[in-house]
Amino acid sequence: MAGKCGGCTMCCKLLGISELKKPSGAWCALCVIAHGCSQYDTRPTSCKIFECFWLTSQANVEEAARMPLRLRPDKSKVVISGDGDSVTVHCDPSQSGAWQRGAVAAILKALANGGKDVVVNNGIGQHFLVKDGRAVELVISAPDGSGVQKVIGFKT
Ligand code: SF4
Ligand code: SF4
Repeated sequence: MAGKCGGCTMCCKLLGISELKKPSGAWCALCVIAHGCSQYDTRPTSCKIFECFWLTSQANVEEAARMPLRLRPDKSKVVISGDGDSVTVHCDPSQSGAWQRGAVAAILKALANGGKDVVVNNGIGQHFLVKDGRAVELVISAPDGSGVQKVIGFKT
């Protein structure tokens, strides 16, 4: 965090960190909000390797390919990340509908239309799969010992 992230530290709130047993949606005790990590050199591996899509996009040479500042997670209240065919979206609990609005919704729709599995955690206990232009609510398992939850079905 900090550095290329500017004043954003949203992943330190919205993501679960298994090494710290930190749940998603709660600030990490080691975070200096809007500044960075107080234990930067010794932070967990999952923190070291994490990059959201906004941060990754900033490396593009073409300015048009970089996501704008208004979509930086501390401003959009949504952290979008992923690898391979899956995309994970975490919303700030204070703005659980942020993933359904404006440019963020358009990005998620485009990713889903491009064949990605887009799974949204709205921050207040609901999870959705974005697919075929709509969102289907998922049934998620209780966290295991490491705080990991799995999709176990769809709500009907
Ligand atoms: S959410 Fe993205 S931009 Fe914000 S601190 Fe984390 S990696 Fe950096
Ligand atoms: S250990 Fe540091 S980088 Fe990791 S979530 Fe906490 S504050 Fe953020």
